[in-house]
Amino acid sequence: MKIIDGTAMAEGILGKCAEAVAGLKSTGVIPGLAVVLVGHDPASDIYVRRKIAKCRQVGVRALEHRLPAATTTAELLKLIASLNKNGEVDGILVQLPLPRQIDEQAVLDAIIPSKDVDGFHPVNVGRLSTGGKALVPCTPLGCMHLLSSVIDDFRGLKAVVIGKSNIVGKPVAMLLLDRECTVTVTHVHTRNLPEIARTADILVSAAGSPGLVRPDWVKPGAVLIDVGVNEIFENGRRRIVGDAELDGLTHAKAATPVPGGVGPMTIACLIENTVRAAAIRVRT
Ligand code: NAD
Repeated sequence: MKIIDGTAMAEGILGKCAEAVAGLKSTGVIPGLAVVLVGHDPASDIYVRRKIAKCRQVGVRALEHRLPAATTTAELLKLIASLNKNGEVDGILVQLPLPRQIDEQAVLDAIIPSKDVDGFHPVNVGRLSTGGKALVPCTPLGCMHLLSSVIDDFRGLKAVVIGKSNIVGKPVAMLLLDRECTVTVTHVHTRNLPEIARTADILVSAAGSPGLVRPDWVKPGAVLIDVGVNEIFENGRRRIVGDAELDGLTHAKAATPVPGGVGPMTIACLIENTVRAAAIRVRT
């Protein structure tokens, strides 16, 4: 079985982004990403730092906005409105989850679709589902890059997606459908999940449930994309694992590890979306 190296693939994408950024800079445009973090969630803080570091690596200008945990929806909407108008900002990323007092959907809806590099705005969601030109959510985009490294022709393949969230499960299903796969989306109430999983040529697990996908859920020759990021404690030590255990998966064609699979690709695709948004700005 091939272990798909998401870290190496992400570096390849970032290298291409750096070249595109250099090209844009020669025309006087520096792509800019506004990163908004509300509160002090430690995991969110780590994600934001990583995103900003990758921006710097490729020459994208990162504009960091850290707001107090008690920020109101109105205050955040005011910031979004100013970022929408700011000519130095090509992409706006609001790190989720937001504190409970904030109306998350109102905030995501307020981001102008052309700067919605997370692809969560209803206009981009609609374009994705109608096959139009959209900014596509980063994790699903990363999953498709990873799959494309081991699959030449997606047409007619049976794809099973575990998880139906708006940020992973549903958009990845749309992208697979767009590539002419026959897609089944499953979730926590799905009956006979192991049997359904065993029918998949492509199995994408985005449940957030460690140990969920057992080796006998994976059909011989199938490709497994493990999106799950789960923190477990073993013998007093903290470990990050996915939804699947790769030991015992020798019969699969390929699989992504956790860490080092989907995670780095998500960040690379965010940068890719930002550079794309900047390139579109230059053309229009
Ligand atoms: P979510 O909680 O919004 O959705 C989880 C989905 O999985 C739900 O639809 C739920 O019904 C389903 N599910 C949960 N347990 C299940 C089970 N036992 N059997 C079948 N279905 C089950 O989560 P999300 O935001 O979509 O994230 C999913 C996982 O992916 C999490 O572990 C998250 O940390 C990870 N994630 C990773 C990245 C990355 O960049 N690597 C990005 C986003 C999310």
